[in-house]
Order: sequence, then structure tokens, then C-alpha cells
Amino acid sequence: MSCLFCGIAEGSIPARKVHEDERIVAFEDVHPQAPAHILIVPRKHIPTGLDIGPEDRDLIGEIFLVAAKLARENGIAADGYRVVLNTNSAAGQSVFHLHYHLLGGRLFHWPPG
Ligand code: AMP
Repeated sequence: MSCLFCGIAEGSIPARKVHEDERIVAFEDVHPQAPAHILIVPRKHIPTGLDIGPEDRDLIGEIFLVAAKLARENGIAADGYRVVLNTNSAAGQSVFHLHYHLLGGRLFHWPPG
């Protein structure tokens, strides 16, 4: 099964990467919904939030540390940013490889649309 975000993580599909380490990659979203819109993606193929297992606890923690680091680097930390995980179709998930949206650089409303 071919997976877009597996391809980006291994480098066979191009993306504008802004972070890479042993377990996580982050890259700019092709259809940004805010001035800063970065996708934070584990290299491990986990289809949805429902497939996160107990063995992934540290990995998910690392994702939030990367989010805070990227928020600081992109100048969106002090004003505020949002980290979003869409799970399954009603929430708007379109790529079935776990990814967290890091969004910032504008005012966000609540409740979200
Ligand atoms: P979601 O709808 O939560 O599954 O988010 C998928 C996101 O991936 C969307 O915001 C898309 O704009 C983004 N996306 C799709 N293809 C690419 C790509 N090749 N490179 C970067 N972002 C992508």
C-alpha cells in the first residue's frame, strides 16, 4: 500500500521539510489554512488517532515537543498556536497517516468550524 506521508518521510516524495529526526518529520502544508501551517508526522505508519497504541506514548509526547519548538522558531509561540488532529471523515481527515496540524499566525475562533 502506497502512502503519501510515508513517501514524504522517506524522501521519495518532495515536501518543504522544516524538521527531521529519527522518529518525526515536519513539513509545510501544501494548502495552508493559516500563515503558519506545518504538518508534524511520525515516520511510523499509524493510520489514525484511533490506532495510537500504548507503545506510542513517547512518540506522541515528542510530537508535542516538536510542535512547541517549531512554534517558537516560526514566531507564533507567544501570540498562540493550535495543534489539531483530525480523526476519520467527519473530522476532515483526508490522509490516513497520523499527522498533527500546527497552525498559527492569525486569530482562531472557538468553536472550530
Ligand atoms: P487532514 O485533512 O487532517 O487529513 O490533513 C491532510 C493535510 O495534508 C491537508 O491539510 C492537505 O493540505 C495536506 N497535504 C496533502 N498533500 C500534501 C503534500 N503532498 N504535501 C504537504 N501537505 C499535503
